[in-house]
Amino acid sequence: MRRERGPYRYRRMQMLEGASDDAYRPGVKPRGAVHCTGCGAVFRKGRWIWAAAPAGAEKRRCPACLRIAEGSPAGYISMTGAFFSAHRDEVLGRVRHCEQREKTTHPLERIMAIDAAKGGVLVTTTSVHLARRIAHALESSFKGALSLSYNHQDNLLRVRWSRAAD
Ligand SMILES: [Zn+2]
Repeated sequence: MRRERGPYRYRRMQMLEGASDDAYRPGVKPRGAVHCTGCGAVFRKGRWIWAAAPAGAEKRRCPACLRIAEGSPAGYISMTGAFFSAHRDEVLGRVRHCEQREKTTHPLERIMAIDAAKGGVLVTTTSVHLARRIAHALESSFKGALSLSYNHQDNLLRVRWSRAAD
């Protein structure tokens, strides 16, 4: 089947373009407009935006909705420590605020889940960019210890933020 060759061809296109290898980004940009069947975002003139669907737009899911459907985050932010436990709502509020600011203009920047994890909370995101923004927002707002680990091959960012009691 032709479709099976799709991902390979797509990777090759990305190599030629020098782009990062991220299976959730369209390697070959659609010719026309796309309307996401999940969140309603619109792909137009090379980027995803929030807009009314143009007539005749192709209907399929955007990369963020694909990640959510497949449970495949691009960013992981682990938050731990006594300070975090004591100021959990405030810290999570900062994280959500960060998402709101990004998502307003960039539909692909979203939090996927905020889950309890060992010693704290794990936040997952649909993009590396948002995970990085959240990491730096945590550090600038609350100090603490921050570490970022980027996996280039899979285009994944793992963030660990921790702060002991003040
Ligand atoms: Zn979508």
